[in-house]
Amino acid sequence: MNERATPHPDGRPTASPGLAFTANPLDRMERTRADDQAVAALRHDPSSRFVCLRDLEPLVEETGGIAWRTRTSLVQENAQNAPWVLLGQDEAGRACFAVDVSGLDSAASSRLAGGAHYRDLRSCVHMMGMGDAGIMAQARSLIDWHNRHGFCAVCGAPTAMTRGGAMRRCADASCGAQNFPRVDPVAIMMVVRGDKCLMGRQSHFPPGMYSALAGFIEPGETLEDAVRREVMEEAGIRVGRVDYVMSQPWPFPSSLMIGCVAEGLSDEITIDEHELETARWITKAEAAAALNRGNPYDNEGEVADLFIPPPIAIAHHLLREWVGE
Ligand SMILES: [Zn+2]
Repeated sequence: MNERATPHPDGRPTASPGLAFTANPLDRMERTRADDQAVAALRHDPSSRFVCLRDLEPLVEETGGIAWRTRTSLVQENAQNAPWVLLGQDEAGRACFAVDVSGLDSAASSRLAGGAHYRDLRSCVHMMGMGDAGIMAQARSLIDWHNRHGFCAVCGAPTAMTRGGAMRRCADASCGAQNFPRVDPVAIMMVVRGDKCLMGRQSHFPPGMYSALAGFIEPGETLEDAVRREVMEEAGIRVGRVDYVMSQPWPFPSSLMIGCVAEGLSDEITIDEHELETARWITKAEAAAALNRGNPYDNEGEVADLFIPPPIAIAHHLLREWVGE
């Protein structure tokens, strides 16, 4: 990950330099997207740019940047009518779209790629600039949502995309339900008690890795309620004060990670074995050593006792902020 955060057009600082998916530079063109003709004109504009996704994998350059394509290159492969969404306008005034090219045959999608590659976003985001990663968070979540919402949740009739992809409307006139792309809020929290903080380990984590506890916020809950409930359910620790720290879109498929620091009120850990393999309190010194080591191995090449998620993850930044680095 390029550590230098791309500044937002209005100068607003990003949440944390290097935190992936948090610096989308696009203006979402709220007014323009309500006008179908204006959106159609942008799709035909030679200056417009298209990011292609195949099975949700973006087309990226060797260097990690988005491999933008033009309408001309889409037309050459007969991909101009592939499923698409309008993402917004970049700083140069160009409209940016995402196109789902999964329906192309492999020869056409290879020609469209040229020297670029379709790559799993999670495994290539560390190579992307902050702005491109932010654009891909929007593109991947939206293309995935449209793929899975072809039918109305109310009446089962087909839905049609509108507002450049910011909505799907039920095609049955007697229903006409409006369906909006979903965002799933997730509370992720560092529970701090004195000089220690609580970290948990799930069985599918790489060896030695621990992370902050996390869970989906449920209907009728505040963020603070969700933090207290999750920590009690997963680790049996009582939580007092909860403070919001930073957030991160996590487009797998459409979570919003809401990072908090929470005050632990008890010490004894009782884990829910369905959620966690184990949990433990770590000291600031242990956290600092793991952050500085930055890989899962100790000096002898053995799996270390404590490995922290990499900088693309919000848990890394929450921990770094607590340690004071
Ligand atoms: Zn309907």
